[in-house]
Formats: sequence, C-alpha cells, structure tokens
Amino acid sequence: MKRDTGQNRNITDKWKLETKLVRGGTYRSELGETSESIFMTSGYAYECAEDAAARFEGDQEGYTYSRLRNPTCAMFEDRMALVEGAEAARSTSTGMSAMTSAMLAIVKADDHVVSSKTLFGSCRVFIEDILPKFGVTSTLVNGYDNEAWKEAMQPNTSVVFLESPANPTLDIVDIKYVCDVAHENGALVVVDNVFATPLLQKPIEYGADVVMYSSTKHIDGQGRCLGGCILTSNKIMDEIISPYIRHTGPNLSPFNAWVMLKSMETMDLRIDRMCLNAAKVADGLYDLGVFESVNYPFRADFRQHELAVKQMTAGGSVITVFVPEGREQAFKFLNALEITDISNNIGDAKSLMTHPASTTHKAVKESARLEMGITEGMLRLSVGLENTDDLMDDFARAAKIAGI
Ligand SMILES: *Cc1c(COP(=O)(O)O)cnc(C)c1O
Repeated sequence: MKRDTGQNRNITDKWKLETKLVRGGTYRSELGETSESIFMTSGYAYECAEDAAARFEGDQEGYTYSRLRNPTCAMFEDRMALVEGAEAARSTSTGMSAMTSAMLAIVKADDHVVSSKTLFGSCRVFIEDILPKFGVTSTLVNGYDNEAWKEAMQPNTSVVFLESPANPTLDIVDIKYVCDVAHENGALVVVDNVFATPLLQKPIEYGADVVMYSSTKHIDGQGRCLGGCILTSNKIMDEIISPYIRHTGPNLSPFNAWVMLKSMETMDLRIDRMCLNAAKVADGLYDLGVFESVNYPFRADFRQHELAVKQMTAGGSVITVFVPEGREQAFKFLNALEITDISNNIGDAKSLMTHPASTTHKAVKESARLEMGITEGMLRLSVGLENTDDLMDDFARAAKIAGI
C-alpha cells in the first residue's frame, strides 16, 4: 500500500481547510479506491520473521497491531492533525477516553491540577472524584476570572484543564492568558475544544499543549458514532501520550474512524450552516421576549462577547435559555416540542434540547451545579440543520403551551 500522490504531509500542509477536510491523510491502496477503505483488521502478517522483528525494533515502516496503529484510524488522525494544525493526533473510542488518557498520561501521584469549574459533567467528575484516588488534587476556578487562574497555581501543578465555550453555560476562558500563566508555572495545558470544533477556534495558536475532542459531536455530526481525538506536538505525543495509549488501549474502532473521515468531508459546510442557524435562532428566541435570558456567544449582549469574538470565528451551535419558573416549566416546554428532540447530544444535524440539571450534569453535586449557574430553569439547545423558521415556529408554540 502506498500513499496517494499529494497525500504526503508536506504537500497536504499547503492545502487550505476545505481541501484538507476532503483529502487530508488519505491512503489509497493499489486498487485505486476513491473513498477511504475500512481496514477492519486487528493484526498484520509479515513476509518473514526478520520483517516482524524489524518492525518491532522500529527499523521498518509498517503496521504491527491495531492497538498501536491502524490504517483507517491513521487516516482520521492525519486528517485531524492537518485541520487542527497539530503535529500529531491519536484517535480514541470516546471524548471521555481522549480526556482521561490525556490527563492520566501527564499526571503522577502528588501532582495538582487546575481546571475551570464549568465543565462537561464527566470531565468534572473525573477531576474532582476520580483523580484524587491516584493522589492527584485539584483546584477549580471560575474560568472567566483571570486572577483566579493565577492564584490557583501551585509548585506541583502539572496540568491546567479548560473547556471554552464551556458545557452548558458557554463561559469563555481567555485561552492565551491561561496558557501563559500555566507555562510560567511549568504546567501543560489541555483544552477541551468540543464546543468550538477545530474550525472555529485553534487553541494551539493560543499556546495550548494538548487539544482533545469528542468526535461524537460535530465531527461525526450526524449522531451515529462515539469517538475522540487527542492532538499535540510530536514531542508530547511520543514522550507522554503515545506510551500511555499503546499500553492502555482506549482505541477507536476502524469502522467508527471511517464514519468520522467521511463526516469530515462535509464538516465545514455543516458547521457554517449550524452557526448561521444558531445565530438566527438565538435572535428569534430573544425576540420571543419570554425567556429570562438567551445566551449565545456571538450575540452582542453575551456577557463575554468581546472575548468570544476575539477567540472564535463564529459562535458555535449551542444556545442556552432560562425559563422563569424552573424545572416543571422547562419540562413542559421540552414536552411540547414537535421538531427539536429531547436529547442530550450536541452537534447533530438534528436540533436537540436538554435540561442539563436533570441529565448531562445530574452526576455533578447540586451545590457544584448551582455554582456553575446550572439552575432548574436552564435549557441547552444544540441547533441543527433544519429550516430556522420551522424551528422558531416550534419554539414559539412550545413557549405558549408551557405558559412562559
Ligand atoms: C460530549 C462531551 C465530552 C465527552 O465526549 P463523549 O464522546 O461523550 O465521551 C467531553 N467534553 C465535552 C465538552 C462534551 O460535550
């Protein structure tokens, strides 16, 4: 199997985003297939025992075992690396396995982690409840408070973790500022860039050392497969992340990697449209005049609008609204929807809405939820690719039924 002409990293690096999304990292076999192949294989046969020995020694190019590298996963990884502008990428079975692998690969007992408080529920549970089992402590700060990041740093802080925009509050963290603070203290920065996607925000350009994704979200974008990806420099990958992944095995299935590859071909079209739709729907929800607040990073009234516009090229696909009367009214609104589904996923072609306090952030302690601003009246909307007039008619009707 040889690399297609033009699939060499040096050449693909020169391509613009749209070309990278469609062709970046493609391997073409001797059969000349146009669509990427699914190499559904766990192992690889060698011509002779000497070849096997040479490959294990690292003296010969080639595959040995799919936990270490698989051609379909490698295509997805190479394409992600090109799109992110990172030197190296490893795909993982879920976003959480990307997050936990990146963190566990870096920390050791007696280390300290600084993180923003507002995180995807499982990320917060991992830092607050699971890392302490391994002797790793943490300090959680308000992500929007620059001074708090500085104050939280300790001599044994080895990782700074942040999510921006955060799930579900959409809090924005000044990534460049936090990276500078972390680096002054000798810590590595891991950014959960799921809400922004690699198309709207490039954490590495602001100084991040590691970027992770749940490709379950906008990268698949059609609600089919779980997946994740870790992106970083060759040095951090080779010295820290790869050894951990090789020996613990959080790998993505080649089939799921293939779904992600095909999805990436249309990713810029989907994200552009989702952001346009979300901006329109955010304005429409505000104009209804019934919600306590409507939050969307690219609306001029968003509390961190200036920073959002500085860091991101568009506002993303997620909006939050607050109903005045709490859980009962929020549930009534959800139950009245006819187009938007009640579902806790995001980044899907289908618009999805959820009540974070009872779903995505249920595992987080109530006090922690309230501290993050996740009240009983909060609803999170992931805007999809439907017609926005249809979506708005549905929301207006549901608001009436719920008596908002
Ligand atoms: C969904 C999500 C994750 C976890 O990804 P999975 O693929 O569900 O494991 C992590 N971070 C954020 C911000 C998410 O939205």
